[in-house]
Amino acid sequence: MATPRTLIDSATIGARIDALAGRIAATMPEDFVMVVILNGAFMFAADLSRALARAGRHPTMEFINLKSYGDATESAGQVRVLGTLPERLDGRAVLLVDDILDTGRTMHFARALLAGLGASPVQLCTFLDKPSRRVLDIRAEHVGFEVEDRFVVGYGLDHAKKWRGLPDLAAID
Ligand code: 5GP
Ligand code: MG
Repeated sequence: MATPRTLIDSATIGARIDALAGRIAATMPEDFVMVVILNGAFMFAADLSRALARAGRHPTMEFINLKSYGDATESAGQVRVLGTLPERLDGRAVLLVDDILDTGRTMHFARALLAGLGASPVQLCTFLDKPSRRVLDIRAEHVGFEVEDRFVVGYGLDHAKKWRGLPDLAAID
């Protein structure tokens, strides 16, 4: 497999996340919960949470482990929960954070899951958006970058469990 080619470098990512955090700080209520979808969103969430702290916001953080992809680059079409879910979130405002909004199945599933735990309102925040791939009608309030329909790795995203630690976002052809 070819070496990944940089699409968005780490400095550009950092600047964009600061801007995102500013907008989130301006639109989320004082008390909110950041719910992070693992594994792919771990790096984005780490940087976003620190940018939020610099913007004066300190949300509670929860993590859910969802899986919709195997080692292939095509969605399995089904989302599963791995591990445990957060406690009830009755009346808590939630910022749901994922790495990439692709077909929309993962975010759709996660939003319903959080609604079932009582979370309200729920805003969606995704590092990347691939609108051309959407199967379900779902949009995120906060988007880092819109990308074309190609498989990306780095900045938390893997291919066959590799490349998550790349500081840049890169494409595999
Ligand atoms: P969806 O459920 O929206 O189809 O897919 C969302 C999940 O699929 C993402 O959270 C991510 O884990 C994975 N995914 C979708 N597109 C890509 C991609 O281009 N690269 C990687 N590494 N993962 C992707
Ligand atoms: Mg993911």
